[in-house]
Amino acid sequence: NGLTGFRGEPLADFTVAELRQAFPEAIASVRARAGQVLPLVIGGKEIATDDRLPTVNPADPTEVLATVCQAGIKETDAAIEAAQAAFAAWRDKTPRERAEVLLKAAAIARRDIVALSAAQVLEVGKQWDQAYNDVGEAIDFLEYYAREAVRLGTPRRMGREPGEKNHLFYEPKGVCAVIAPWNFPLAISCGMSAAAIVAGNTVVFKPSGLASLIGHGLVALFKEAGLPDGVFNFCPGRGSVMGDRLVEHPAVATIAFTGSMETGLRIQEKAARVQPGQAYCKRVIAEMGGKNAIIIDDDADLDEAILGVVYSAFGFQGQKCSACSRVIVVDSIYDKFVTRLTEACSSLKIGPAEDPENAMGPVVDPSQQKKVLEYLEIARSEGKVLVERTTSGQGYYAPLVVAAGIRPEHRLAQEEVFGPILAVMKAESFDEALSFANASRFALTGGVYSRSPRHLEKARREFRVGNLYLNRNCVGAMVGRQPFGGSKMSGVGSKAGGPDYLLQFMDPRVVTENT
Ligand code: GLU
Repeated sequence: NGLTGFRGEPLADFTVAELRQAFPEAIASVRARAGQVLPLVIGGKEIATDDRLPTVNPADPTEVLATVCQAGIKETDAAIEAAQAAFAAWRDKTPRERAEVLLKAAAIARRDIVALSAAQVLEVGKQWDQAYNDVGEAIDFLEYYAREAVRLGTPRRMGREPGEKNHLFYEPKGVCAVIAPWNFPLAISCGMSAAAIVAGNTVVFKPSGLASLIGHGLVALFKEAGLPDGVFNFCPGRGSVMGDRLVEHPAVATIAFTGSMETGLRIQEKAARVQPGQAYCKRVIAEMGGKNAIIIDDDADLDEAILGVVYSAFGFQGQKCSACSRVIVVDSIYDKFVTRLTEACSSLKIGPAEDPENAMGPVVDPSQQKKVLEYLEIARSEGKVLVERTTSGQGYYAPLVVAAGIRPEHRLAQEEVFGPILAVMKAESFDEALSFANASRFALTGGVYSRSPRHLEKARREFRVGNLYLNRNCVGAMVGRQPFGGSKMSGVGSKAGGPDYLLQFMDPRVVTENT
């Protein structure tokens, strides 16, 4: 197919002096543009609305980074119509032509990687390395899905029956609504959009209100890459005003969503009801929550395990659907592990993400902050709080919490907090640890630290999550290497960054010719 094999972007390497120096400069230039008003972009045209929302720095909410125009019903409809109008011409391009646009966008993002990362440091409080790796993942999605589109673009001959020729091929579905989260604000927005686009669909993109500046970065990226007007429409808006409309509009064929379970379930319900004029059974792809566990076996390498658990639980303040929120420790190693975990958590530096010394920053907004505080109280009543690290400061800081004595039936073991709260559970044996781990309605990520081949083998078979990690942390799935996504209440649809993902944005057809 002429494209060489996929290789992921290298992860952030801050031993490189130029990269270290580039960050503060890039952060300063995000600040220098702070007065900007971001319009909607519909059919290639900028549309300013009167309803506007500020987007702020969670480490200092008085710092407004941009003011973002919000779509109402009228603008949402207009964006969907623009996407509809652009569809036929885009559908009729070859997969290779569409893939070329993604490859160009990847090259542009690679050129601008530090600038794109800096926006994340300020707008959502991502640490430098995590911000950089998020942009790296966005590039990976572009490169990987470009290759996937070309791979799937060749019609496949089916069967060898004499006297007939059967060909299976795929075609795009139409308009896709992309409803993105704030926690992987470029990677997931770009991944969902790029998949829809390269498969031949057109997109109405609703970024999270907490990450609209970052989401707006996609506008410039796709424009410079030569994407025709109307194929990608930038449509920020309040979920309460236009969210349902975006899902229910009769012309929307596909909804790609990543976010909370509550919103994901609501989208599925709304999408199931057929609207007047609707000609498509809507397909919903929804990546939702997790209550992910790491098991510490009695022979685990504790140096590795402590690092892995702390990073999985508190990196980006635990605001990842992949984050570890339960650590299940086998009895005989429990005291040793918990002592070391407590020590490790006590030495983490907490403060603004723009200072690379800080391992943990503020959570994204006041409602997340409040939620963490509520679960801290639940932790106190259900178990015993071992670590509670509060930070003062005007940002949306939430305490880092480690709570022991949690049992599978506790709320702290069942409900997703999406913040820096880690529940510690004690199990009598590896088998019991495994059954605790599976006692969740989520099934997203999981981890096991063990030196026992028998236990690792058992976990492979019986630890029923979408992404299981043996003897390493449970976050940071890599495109093309660890296709990402779960089952049960963690979502519907197949794994992002994997070989089945694009198929969800297309309909298969077969043509049979009597020969
Ligand atoms: N793919 C990310 C990871 O593996 C998580 C994505 C999410 O939080 O939505 O860490």
